[in-house]
Formats: sequence, C-alpha cells, structure tokens
Amino acid sequence: MIKRIFLTVAVIFLMMGCLRPKAPQTVPVRAEFVLATVCVIMLYDRGEPQVYEEVFARLREIENRMSFFMEGSDINRINRAAGIEPVRVPGDVFYVIERAVYIAELSGGAFDPTVGPLVALWDIGGATPPRIPPQEEIKKLLPLVNWQNVELDRENQSVFLKKPGMALDLGAIAKGYAADEAAEIIRNAGIPRAIIDLGGNNLLVGEKADGTLWRIGIQDPLDERGAYIGVLETRETSVVTSGVYERYFVYEGVHYHHLLSPSLGHPARSGLLSATIITGISMDADALSTAIFVMGHEKGIALVESLDGVEAIFILEDRSVLLTGGLTAGVDFFITNEDYRFF
Ligand code: ADP
Ligand code: MG
Repeated sequence: MIKRIFLTVAVIFLMMGCLRPKAPQTVPVRAEFVLATVCVIMLYDRGEPQVYEEVFARLREIENRMSFFMEGSDINRINRAAGIEPVRVPGDVFYVIERAVYIAELSGGAFDPTVGPLVALWDIGGATPPRIPPQEEIKKLLPLVNWQNVELDRENQSVFLKKPGMALDLGAIAKGYAADEAAEIIRNAGIPRAIIDLGGNNLLVGEKADGTLWRIGIQDPLDERGAYIGVLETRETSVVTSGVYERYFVYEGVHYHHLLSPSLGHPARSGLLSATIITGISMDADALSTAIFVMGHEKGIALVESLDGVEAIFILEDRSVLLTGGLTAGVDFFITNEDYRFF
C-alpha cells in the first residue's frame, strides 16, 4: 500500500517534469546520510539542485577530513602520529581543532576534543556489543585525555598530540562547523532562507517569508524522536542540543549515553537530560552544548551567562526546565508538554 502511494507520487512528479520541461526544477528539501547522521537541508523557495549538490559535497568533504573512524581522515592521521610527529592539515581542520581547544579551556575541560581514547573504549552506539569497561582500563586512559597536550603550530598548520595513545575526536563540534559551512554556501548562492538540520544540530538561515519568528521544537529527551517538550521562537540563529537520548545503550537496567566526563571517564551524570545552546555560530553551539551538559546546570549557566550572544535551555532529570537570562518563559520559549514545567 505504502509502496503504491510512493509510486503514484513518483509518477506524478515525473509527469510534472515532462509537462513543464522549462520550469526550473527546485526541490524544497533534501536528506542524505553524512557525518554519521541524517542531514536535512531545506532551501525554502529556491532549492536549486546545484546548491544541494554543493552543500552535500562540502559536508562529505568535512566528514572525510574530520571523521574519527575513517582511515586516512586528517583526524585519523593526527591520531596515528600521536607522540611521534606533528601532522600538517587543511585550514578548516586546523580551524576547528583550534576552536575545540579554546572551548575546552573555556569549559574547564568539560568539553575536551582529546576524549578519543575513551570514546573508542566505550564505543557507545558503535559496532561492539554494549559493555561496561573495567575501571582499570578507564584509569589507564585518563592521563591521555587532556586538551593541554594538543600542540598547535599555526604557521605550519600542523597539529601534534604530545603523548602516544592520545586521540582527537571532533564528534561534538564538527557537525556544528559543517552547518556553518552549509549556511555559507547557501547565503553565497543568494538563497534567502533555509533550515539546516544535521542530526539535530540546527541552523536557521534568514527570515521567514512572512516576517514571523522561526519556531523550533526542543526534543523531549524521554520520548521518541520528534516529540517535543516545547517550542523556541527565534530569529536567525543556531540551536543545538546535547542529550542522553542521542546515542546510548542500556546495560542491566542502567542507561549509558555518549556524553562522557573527560575527568571521570564515564558517561557524565550531571543531573541533566539535555542541554540546548542558542547562538549564531553553530560550531560554538555544538561544542558548548556538550560542554554545559557535562558541567551541569549550575556551572553551565555561569559559563553561558559569561558569554555574549549565547543562551541555553536546560532540561533537568526531574523534568524541570531552566532558561538563561536572555530567554523569557512564555515569550521566547513555551512548554507545550505537560510532563514538564519551568524550574
Ligand atoms: P551529538 O553528536 O549526538 O549531536 P554531541 O555534539 O554532544 O552530540 O557530541 C557527542 C560526541 O562527542 C560523542 O559521541 C563523542 O564522540 C564526543 N564526546 C563525548 N563526550 C565528549 C566531551 N566531554 N567533550 C568532547 N567530545 C565529547
Ligand atoms: Mg555538541
């Protein structure tokens, strides 16, 4: 039945194509699996195929350079040369690593791009069957996790991990950077408005046609994907959430998610179900959302309030919702799910 509907729709589209051969073929939305997630791009009124091509080609290029697991990626080359020698990388890779190190410092190491060895050990949501690594294995890796041992040489565009066994993982920042790059291509193409959604890493470009604010749902961390706790109304910005629901496994009734405490070496338990950052640059939103999730709401709020043009929404384990000072409950953010309430 569903197949038949699809076929009918496909036939109608084909017919439309035949009947109007000269009309520009625009598509309002396109989705592809890149950066280990589903990337959805919506180019509202002017979805020219070549713009989509250019955007997805750039996303694939970023994945090929910044992927942790991909053989031959620049990150992979840096990691293989840990403790041996510096590795020269393309400008974009250097730029993201530099920003990652900056946000590591800013967050007191709650966000740390050198969590690679721990990410590989836990392999949460990966190919190996779920298991809790023995404490001594975790303990052995902890000294390798330290952003201060990343040596950046700006002149040579090279990166050196000082200790053998260290490993960079840009999993908590690369998608944000990719969204910024997609927006750049879209703006340069003269497209007035777009939604960029890279696996929940959202970037809203431009204004809506009728001048009203964008409305964006904040995921209910305890429900299925697409179920929201409420709605944020905003102008052009990036909205990125880090939560317990994105990747996890359950072992003997305990939930182990993919946001790790770099100091303890296991999934961060900070009393939060999710943390959302709202700020113009998606790369910052991505890294900061991971950072404040790990920090918890008290330290997280202090960090966000110290930064210009950055706001946050915290969902606590007791289903209360906290907003930073620049957001007003009932004006910028509305709770629509009665299981949740403002703090
Ligand atoms: P998602 O990728 O699900 O949107 P994040 O942006 O928060 O969520 O990134 C989580 C990923 O970042 C993890 O899968 C892991 O690769 C890496 N990571 C986990 N903990 C940290 C951390 N404390 N600092 C930096 N990167 C982390
Ligand atoms: Mg992140």
